[in-house]
Amino acid sequence: MTNEPDCISFDDLVSAIEAKLTAAGASSAVAKVLATNCATCERDGTLSHGVFRVAGYLDSLTRGWADGTAEASVDVVGPSYIRIDGHNGFAQPALAEAGSVVDQALDDTGVAVIALRNTHHFSALWPDLEAFARDGRVAMGMIASGKLAVVPEGATRPVFSTNPFGFATPVADGDPIVFDFSTSSMSHGDLQLLRAEGREVAVGTGVDSTGADTTDPNAILDGGGIRPIGGHKGALLSFMIETLAAGLTGGAFTYEIDAEAPDGAHTFRTGQLFIVIDPERGGNDAYLGRVREFVDMLRDAGMDRQPGDRRYANRAAAAERGIPITDLIRSLFD
Ligand code: NDP
Repeated sequence: MTNEPDCISFDDLVSAIEAKLTAAGASSAVAKVLATNCATCERDGTLSHGVFRVAGYLDSLTRGWADGTAEASVDVVGPSYIRIDGHNGFAQPALAEAGSVVDQALDDTGVAVIALRNTHHFSALWPDLEAFARDGRVAMGMIASGKLAVVPEGATRPVFSTNPFGFATPVADGDPIVFDFSTSSMSHGDLQLLRAEGREVAVGTGVDSTGADTTDPNAILDGGGIRPIGGHKGALLSFMIETLAAGLTGGAFTYEIDAEAPDGAHTFRTGQLFIVIDPERGGNDAYLGRVREFVDMLRDAGMDRQPGDRRYANRAAAAERGIPITDLIRSLFD
């Protein structure tokens, strides 16, 4: 703990989460990666994927639904094409295991396509994408997230997950620009948080079990569904994400796996796709500076809130005084 009684240091939070995961059966390597990811989300204010998720990880581990000791198989099937079988483990440790192979592909060819299957992804994409951008790479990622939750217009039942997509680019003289969002009107995690707080959502967020618009998170989560962002356009982005993150990787489509989930399961074994590019290979060695000028132009035009600004501000505040202790964080020490 820090001197500040209402705050915890990042390292202490990682250790506390790591201890819980290890006690639930995760190997120390897997626990380290997941705990760091979780604490990073909490520190930067992605609360829907921070400590809030620990209970779901523990549940999956103790039920044996996900294998916390799995070691991924990493196959280089082409100079730029890396296939990873997570063997029912979690995606982030599997991606970490492929780190040196990914670096080699980028050094050799300037591109790495990383196709993960048989992996549970239960977090935000941005921590891994930001890490690529801090190494000077452009990166994008997408997830077949597994919880059947999204009902596009015309469909009579959920057919997609909230299918997040993230993008990260380095920028000269500054932090990377990183955005990461679900292709649904709201992420499942945020909806659960609002439900827990007894709050309503805006009309258009989702429908009840009869297909009628509702502002009640309970009705959306229990038998209803979340709407995609932007009508048919969001639905088609979900189509692309499922196709690449599941169809291309060989992982399960969301619609295939929900039925086999044990009651109340929070994590799902699907697939994820990452595409990482060395921007210098574009024959444009001024890339970083050009993106800098582009971002400056956007701010000058009034678009002064850039993705990442909120997280970087939270991160700076946490570096000063630690991470605010919530009841969820307190419960890690019970
Ligand atoms: P948010 O609405 O929280 O954030 C969307 C992105 O837009 C963020 O990068 C945010 O930057 C940026 N942003 C927000 N407001 C503005 C603005 N006014 N101008 C410019 N940029 C802005 O996303 P979601 O709630 O949809 O998703 C939350 C997280 O949930 C994501 O990280 C996603 O990966 C994760 N998720 C994971 C799933 C899984 O199965 N693993 C499933 C679904 C979602 P900033 O960060 O600075 O606020």
